[in-house]
Amino acid sequence: MLRLYNALTKSKKLFKPIKAKHVTMYSCGPTVYDHAHIGNLRAYIFADTLQRVLRVIEGYTVDWVMNITDVDDKMIARIQRDYPKEDPNMALGILADKYTDIFVDDIEKVGIHRADIAKLPRATDHIKGMQALITKLLREKIAYESDGSFYFSLDAYKKSGKKYGVLVDLDYQAKARVTDDQDQKEGVADFVLWKAEKKGEPFWDFDYLGKNYPGRPGWHIECSVMSTQYLGQVFDIHTGGVDLKFPHHENEIAQCGGHQANFFVHNEHLQVQSKKMSKSLGNITKLSDITDPLAFRLLCLQAHYRSQMDFSADALQSAHERLNNLRAYADQLVLASEHQLPAVDESGITSQFWQIFSASLEDDLNTSAALAALAAIEGKVFSRQTLELLQKVDAVLGLQLINEVSISSEARATLADYQNAREAKEYVASDKLREELKTKYLLQVSDTPYGPLVHRVRK
Ligand SMILES: [Zn+2]
Repeated sequence: MLRLYNALTKSKKLFKPIKAKHVTMYSCGPTVYDHAHIGNLRAYIFADTLQRVLRVIEGYTVDWVMNITDVDDKMIARIQRDYPKEDPNMALGILADKYTDIFVDDIEKVGIHRADIAKLPRATDHIKGMQALITKLLREKIAYESDGSFYFSLDAYKKSGKKYGVLVDLDYQAKARVTDDQDQKEGVADFVLWKAEKKGEPFWDFDYLGKNYPGRPGWHIECSVMSTQYLGQVFDIHTGGVDLKFPHHENEIAQCGGHQANFFVHNEHLQVQSKKMSKSLGNITKLSDITDPLAFRLLCLQAHYRSQMDFSADALQSAHERLNNLRAYADQLVLASEHQLPAVDESGITSQFWQIFSASLEDDLNTSAALAALAAIEGKVFSRQTLELLQKVDAVLGLQLINEVSISSEARATLADYQNAREAKEYVASDKLREELKTKYLLQVSDTPYGPLVHRVRK
């Protein structure tokens, strides 16, 4: 049974979905104005690992929705720079198409299958839904108009008996008002739901009480609308980076009139020399700067998702080497002949490993403990049962260890000659054949109690 740290209760809680055997999950997705950096990708690797654990270990089906933010301050600044002559609404679409494609390519490279995400809805396709929710809040007098924009009133919300600040403890003094989208850090304040049109910016008409309020949505409203439209209110799990707790998730919750998910789960930042990786600090690494994207996935999994994680070239290199060792082990199991490996590992280490591996993941997704458990069998235990379990490990960790590989009949014959030479103690001949396997067939031989096992040579 999976236990997850829930920001709503600030404790680990036994996870139980609303509907038996089916989980609904929403992740705050990217703003598609530029390349995502690897700090952003950590959040998606975490969410992906969670949905994999829910499916493979817990046996649920998962409906995973991730939004695409295609209108906000950053998007608008970018279209004004890159497409100044284009109609602003059209330009948003061009920019969003470009960087959504790049984002999908990036997540595939770090082992997140696009096909596992049921929907990637875009904010601008949900303007009507956002207007409907804003209208409802205006009718309830939780929202108010000012200079053609609509704001969420924290005072009115509080007076209606609701609590603002359910994920983080906030010093509640609702006097200020905030109009920025993602970068505001001013503290608790009324926040914008709908921004009045500014000259040269994209806008949509908004009819309220027979008057038009042309403008565009604030950032927070999109997630309230898309999460509940696709997954219902209440759904099971809402994920995001820890910086989204406040104000973004607090605002999402307030707009929904209460927490729209039973679990709010947040991952910590990726850091560089103890500073958050962010475009504004100029310390970002893009995925295209990394030669082995799956090594970055492994690096993320080596840390607990709720721990800050320091990124460095050395750490990435060690992860790359560890991954190559795991790949070599997977090769050895896959490439061993049917008769070479025993069906079950008699020592019981394989079954013991699986118990520790799955129990670690069920303990608030302790991927580092799960990987440590893997070290107990890696390169040491060989059986068909181990191969089957490694396939399950792969399905959970998404490291793509198991590949459909085969050895040519020539390589197999050379391998048999090698084994015969070893058994006849003809070491000069066996050394020559070993070298031939390496240079001609790119296969490295290891001598094990099960005979020579091979894996592909990797850099
Ligand atoms: Zn969101």
